[in-house]
Amino acid sequence: KAKKHLGQHFLTDENIAAKIVDSLSFENYSQVLEVGPGMGVLTKYLLDKDTETFVAEIDTESIDYLKQHYPKMQDGHFVGDFLKADIAVMFSGQVAVIGNFPYNISSQILFKIIDFYDQIPEMVGMFQKEVAERTAAVPRTKDYGILSVLVQALYDVTYLFTVHENVFNPPPKVKSGVIKLTRNPKEGLAGNEVLFKKIVKAGFGQRRKKLSNSLKAIEIPEAVQNHPFLDKRAEELSVQDFIAFTNEWKNA
Ligand code: SAM
Repeated sequence: KAKKHLGQHFLTDENIAAKIVDSLSFENYSQVLEVGPGMGVLTKYLLDKDTETFVAEIDTESIDYLKQHYPKMQDGHFVGDFLKADIAVMFSGQVAVIGNFPYNISSQILFKIIDFYDQIPEMVGMFQKEVAERTAAVPRTKDYGILSVLVQALYDVTYLFTVHENVFNPPPKVKSGVIKLTRNPKEGLAGNEVLFKKIVKAGFGQRRKKLSNSLKAIEIPEAVQNHPFLDKRAEELSVQDFIAFTNEWKNA
């Protein structure tokens, strides 16, 4: 029986499960970490591939079920709570992430992936449609915000497809969206990630105001006080604009 507090909605459509797994490239990594496998509807297809499959699951009933039904899944393949997992300690090399994620921790999952950018070249995941859209959003749209800019600074984001409520048991209240993240070269940020995050958060924190106003809280250095971007609102700046602005600010 599904546990609501764990965000459990089990996918019942095998074609969609296979399609999600096949959206990974299986190139340049030999390990895949599935977050929230539940009864293993994705896990089953992952185990057909040459990569080694690990799962992060906190529901002991699901873990027992997986061990019983998938003999390939042994103790060493379970990593517990994804939000607490230290990817750098658990995995020696590159590891792709996949999952029909528990929706109550969607943004935490995305921020965790960003934190382990160096080790995670790719992610294919299902979120509530609204979060999938926000992650993939482009400038000058209402969906474009902190999540879009922070993720897209490190990953190319593709919105793959929408999934209807009625292919889950129990059905969630909202539609779902599957997105793919492909790591892009990070040189642009040149070690200024902390300042970048600060600027993006402050800028979108008051998204109707010009940046000259919304950034006041973090004291704008003199050298960029006349920067043309300050006359714009956060949603008018591209990801590259934010990166360029951060670097000028830092070098000021
Ligand atoms: N993958 C299965 C499917 O598609 O049918 C289940 C998806 S269900 C939406 C989310 C799963 O995430 C549940 O099995 C739940 O127990 C698990 N979960 C919830 N919080 C978690 C966490 N912090 N770390 C790992 N798994 C978690």
